[in-house]
Amino acid sequence: MNADTDIAIVGGGPVGAALALALCGNGGSGNSGLRVTVLEARAERASDPRPIALSHGSRLLLERLGAWRGLNPTVISNIHVSQRGAFGRVVMNAADAGVPALGYVVDYNHIFLALADAIRSNECDYREGVRATALHHDGGVRRVDYTRDGAAATLTARVVVVADGGDIEGLAPPKITDYAQHALTARVSTTLPHKNVAYERFTKDGPLALLPFGDEMALVWTLTPARAEALKDADLKTFCAALREAFGGRLGDFKTVAQRACYPLSLRYAPQTSMPGVVTIGNAAQTLHPVAGQGFNLGLRDAWELAQALRTIRVQALSDNGILRQYRASRRIDRGATLAATHGLVRLFSNDFFPLNAMRGAGMTLLGCVAPARNFLARRMIFGVRG
Ligand SMILES: Cc1cc2nc3c(=O)[nH]c(=O)nc-3n(C[C@H](O)[C@H](O)[C@H](O)COP(=O)(O)OP(=O)(O)OC[C@H]3O[C@@H](n4cnc5c(N)ncnc54)[C@H](O)[C@@H]3O)c2cc1C
Repeated sequence: MNADTDIAIVGGGPVGAALALALCGNGGSGNSGLRVTVLEARAERASDPRPIALSHGSRLLLERLGAWRGLNPTVISNIHVSQRGAFGRVVMNAADAGVPALGYVVDYNHIFLALADAIRSNECDYREGVRATALHHDGGVRRVDYTRDGAAATLTARVVVVADGGDIEGLAPPKITDYAQHALTARVSTTLPHKNVAYERFTKDGPLALLPFGDEMALVWTLTPARAEALKDADLKTFCAALREAFGGRLGDFKTVAQRACYPLSLRYAPQTSMPGVVTIGNAAQTLHPVAGQGFNLGLRDAWELAQALRTIRVQALSDNGILRQYRASRRIDRGATLAATHGLVRLFSNDFFPLNAMRGAGMTLLGCVAPARNFLARRMIFGVRG
């Protein structure tokens, strides 16, 4: 049966856009020859200030996609992990891990724009201001219902890739664990320079990350929803005093605060990431706590691996579910391990129970002293489970 397009990607966020580029772009493995249509709900540029720490592995993928130039990232050369009010710390550095940098910090808007611009300059049908509303099986193809400027329309495709965050009708509902935490993000400046060190500090409310971002630091601070909302609106003096109290004096004093935003946090994952003719990737497949900065890095690997799988078969065979099943199986270990590690970190570090405090301290001291264990951890964070 004929279809309007070979691959319909619902959601042109960073992960959906990366998949489109991996299939249509001239970088990567070259244009696949598949007809690709992206449906993106936003009609305007994204205005999301959240910082995104990219692993070295993600840099390599974005370079292959031709989307790395212009991101203007800030290098992370060291990562310093500690817990508030208890002993133990771990310091990882790029040289020990055998990579030029442990990571790179950009913001969501830059990634969104860089990928969208790269797509527009390739042979890809990129439709903005289009909201998908439902998915149906229609004979041998999939049908996506959508609205654009208030008018309803449909698109048929051999394969639909859902990369929208998981709200569309026609898919199994995701499993959700509400962390009852918000991430408060902001840009802050400090009296001491960051020297390209990223800090992760575990507090009784949850983890607090300060990432080098240009001359400033990008803050991701996990708090109870009430405290996060209160600090989002607090005056400068109150905010800086609270941050100094939680983080300590490693960067001196906090001087300015800008672009504050709050994000409710939960773990959401699709029990089945594929079914005949439909596959979910990125946040639609799994939405993680930002504690280890792994969500986009994992989603980018989803996009890359899916593109490689879709390239291997003839167009007529795309609707056959075998290739999507193979893709799902190939992602099982990386996805499961990243999800479990991130969830475990949140559970282990988001409380103040004394014996756990001591165990965490002992664990960190051990990691701090045993270089191979520390480098193993660093490589997992950099390349995923295949690192
Ligand atoms: C505070 C915070 C900090 C983070 N820090 C990091 C980090 O340091 N490193 C990291 O790797 N990850 C990080 N993440 C996670 C990262 O933001 C996500 O993993 C990433 O945004 C997932 O991209 P995505 O394209 O799958 O989904 P999204 O970014 O959610 O994009 C989905 C896209 O789909 C579109 N859409 C939605 N519904 C529809 C529809 N019905 N029809 C059409 N289009 C639709 C949306 O407009 C959007 O453009 C962080 C997250 C948070 C909240």
